[in-house]
Amino acid sequence: MTDSLSRVQQDVVACERCPRLRAWCRRVAQEKVKRYQDQEYWGRPVPGFGDPAARLLIVGLAPAAHGGNRTGRIFTGDRSGDFLFAALHRAGFASQPTSVSRDDGLRLIDCYVAATARCAPPDNKPLPEEIRSCREYLAREWALLPRLRAVLALGRIAMDGALAMLREAGRLPPRKGYAFGHGVRHDLGDGLALFGSYHPSQQNTFTGKLTPADLDRVLAAIRRQLGRPSSRG
Ligand code: SF4
Repeated sequence: MTDSLSRVQQDVVACERCPRLRAWCRRVAQEKVKRYQDQEYWGRPVPGFGDPAARLLIVGLAPAAHGGNRTGRIFTGDRSGDFLFAALHRAGFASQPTSVSRDDGLRLIDCYVAATARCAPPDNKPLPEEIRSCREYLAREWALLPRLRAVLALGRIAMDGALAMLREAGRLPPRKGYAFGHGVRHDLGDGLALFGSYHPSQQNTFTGKLTPADLDRVLAAIRRQLGRPSSRG
């Protein structure tokens, strides 16, 4: 059967590969948090979403317990998403600066957002084997987004996940190292570059480790990357 982004999304939503994460997401969805007591939580794995013609792929860590796990859309309904989508809107990659629910009208432009793990993990820490189990979905999205020119990894774990996926896809030399840091750019050849940014978690944005201007600079570098001529189209 031919694969498609909607098929990947369906497979993600139905996935039960990681018992620890599935049990945790269900429990959080049942117990809820006080401020969202009146809402029905999604409680299932959270698929990626965006523009099928995207040239930019953003890889996050995993959905938040009361963000994506509540709303059913990655980086939606939490402070990290507020920070990220405001920046994407300023850079022209999002139709609006806010991301609050699956039906809020947000449209990504030339951009697709995914994650290394699609289920909210306890303490925001997926286990290495859970990240490995989930990599198939990122690999399928990678294969289904043929126009990609830039991959933006939000945080070190996302960078490692993106690199592992690209290695498995035969897109990188097996042993070459790629350092993580905020603002790094690695030229992967054939018109593709990998960028790193600190993750827009509250821990980073509330402490000033990651400011809006910091993320704007990374997105400006990505814009320059997309403006370069390439054989990838
Ligand atoms: S983290 Fe990924 S592989 Fe594990 S259950 Fe969730 S969707 Fe499936």
